[in-house]
Amino acid sequence: MTNKELADLLLPGVDSNIEKYEELYPKRNLDEKAVVTRFAPSPTGFVHMGSLFQSFISRKVSSDTNGVFFLRVEDTDQKRLVENSVKGIVDDLKNFEIEIDEGMINEEEWKGDYGPYIQSKRKDIYQSYVKRLLEEGKAYPCFCSAEEIEETRLLQEKKKQRIGYYGRFAKCRKLTPEQIKEKVEAGESFIIRLRSHGDFEHKIKVHDLIKGSLEIPENDLDIVILKSDGLPTYHFAHLVDDHLMRTTHVVRGDEWLSSLALHLQLFQTFGFEPPKYAHISPIMKEENGVKRKLSKRKDPEAAVSYYHEKGIPVEAVKLYLMTLANTNFEQWYDCNKDKTLKDFPFDFKKMSASGGLFDIEKLMNISKNYFSRLSAQEVYDGVTKWAKEHDTEFYEVLTKDPLYAISVFNIEREQKKPRKDYGCYSEIRQLSWYMFPELYEKQEKEYLFQTVSDKEEIKKILTTYMEKHYHEQDTKEEWFDHMKDLAQELGYAREVKEYKEHPEDYKGHIGDISLVLRIVLTTKSTTPDLYDIMTILGKQTIFERYQAWIKGN
Ligand code: GLU
Repeated sequence: MTNKELADLLLPGVDSNIEKYEELYPKRNLDEKAVVTRFAPSPTGFVHMGSLFQSFISRKVSSDTNGVFFLRVEDTDQKRLVENSVKGIVDDLKNFEIEIDEGMINEEEWKGDYGPYIQSKRKDIYQSYVKRLLEEGKAYPCFCSAEEIEETRLLQEKKKQRIGYYGRFAKCRKLTPEQIKEKVEAGESFIIRLRSHGDFEHKIKVHDLIKGSLEIPENDLDIVILKSDGLPTYHFAHLVDDHLMRTTHVVRGDEWLSSLALHLQLFQTFGFEPPKYAHISPIMKEENGVKRKLSKRKDPEAAVSYYHEKGIPVEAVKLYLMTLANTNFEQWYDCNKDKTLKDFPFDFKKMSASGGLFDIEKLMNISKNYFSRLSAQEVYDGVTKWAKEHDTEFYEVLTKDPLYAISVFNIEREQKKPRKDYGCYSEIRQLSWYMFPELYEKQEKEYLFQTVSDKEEIKKILTTYMEKHYHEQDTKEEWFDHMKDLAQELGYAREVKEYKEHPEDYKGHIGDISLVLRIVLTTKSTTPDLYDIMTILGKQTIFERYQAWIKGN
């Protein structure tokens, strides 16, 4: 019995003409330096920070080199599938503005000429390649039951030997064609394994774009390439897909580093050129002085939905991810204030081989800086978009009078040192509700007075201010002078300095007066510029709030 006859017996009806696929998916017509890479998640749930990081980097390198970035869904493990998760992945990438050039666009459809981009629809392709290996004697069927495999494992454990199907433990490797025929005809189920010629004692030199040069043992495991359900294992699918999709770079988690020798061997078996590999270390987190992997289960910030819900701008998260990716980025960004992420020359060599440390506080600081560079209109657009989905009451207030809202967001913005209090869209309402009369009405108010807390004194400050010193048309300077007049009239120093020199002569100073006016107006002891706040709120609102407080206390 020839290998060809054996292959026909094992995979009847499967066409081993792999050349047709080579033609169907030709070498891409791109620059020599162009990076073709992909994000290849299993549809087992939503995207988390680690995989977002990978796809962010992949997108960046392919954009930088006029290459291609595509999304391939790896669903060969049918037991682990989660319904609708392709949509979840597509939406998560969209939310983070990580655009794909090719790949899945929803549960069923894809764009691009190298598809299907979902593995369950590529069964025929994989089987062709498997059949070719069988014909060449480079693969063989294995009839071992799960129990037999388990027995071998226990034996290997007991004898302290390497676990796996290799060497003398590879029972089915030795079956003769006649024995195979007999088993197939008896209806025994089987899987297909690679016939490895590797030697575990022999080390090969490999180069990883992040980890550098490594020496790893050759693969000698006869790994499963086709499962009993007719679908390939991850390893084999990776070979076929990344070869046919003409991937030049594989950027993936370093949990796959241990499979690298096997993957290179698979490419070699077919005589295909392997892609370059970049194995990313997991993102770490420090907790109570101990470093551990950022965990989907323990850390809310590991889920990408967290950023969406909090309203941390995508651009800020991306800036942060770049600081994790390349440590020289922050300095570059500081020195190139007019440039964006797109201009940064990302470099695999500058990635940490041991894993970046995720620090949410740092991310929030980056986000605050990012906000400080935005115009009032941009803040308005962002917060409105966020509120539409997460806070409809705020959304209505914002859209009722956009110009008013923009004037609120413009306070202390277009100036040399713009305000830095906004870190995310979900904080904006809490930091600005007092500027919107509808929200002010609804708000539970608590006034935390500080230096001046005597109610009669506060009333006197408010009344005197309204009666004598508030003038609607005042410029900022005039307004401040009038506030000083008020201070003086009530026995407070016009200047803090004067007070410090002769505290015995005064009840307090101008700062105490303005603090009272600020707190009664906004309930807060720190706000942006009080003059701007008063100008925007206008006389009627200011007086109403002061009078209401006097009446209620
Ligand atoms: N489906 C694999 C995973 O989710 C992909 C690894 C790769 O990028 O090759 O880990």
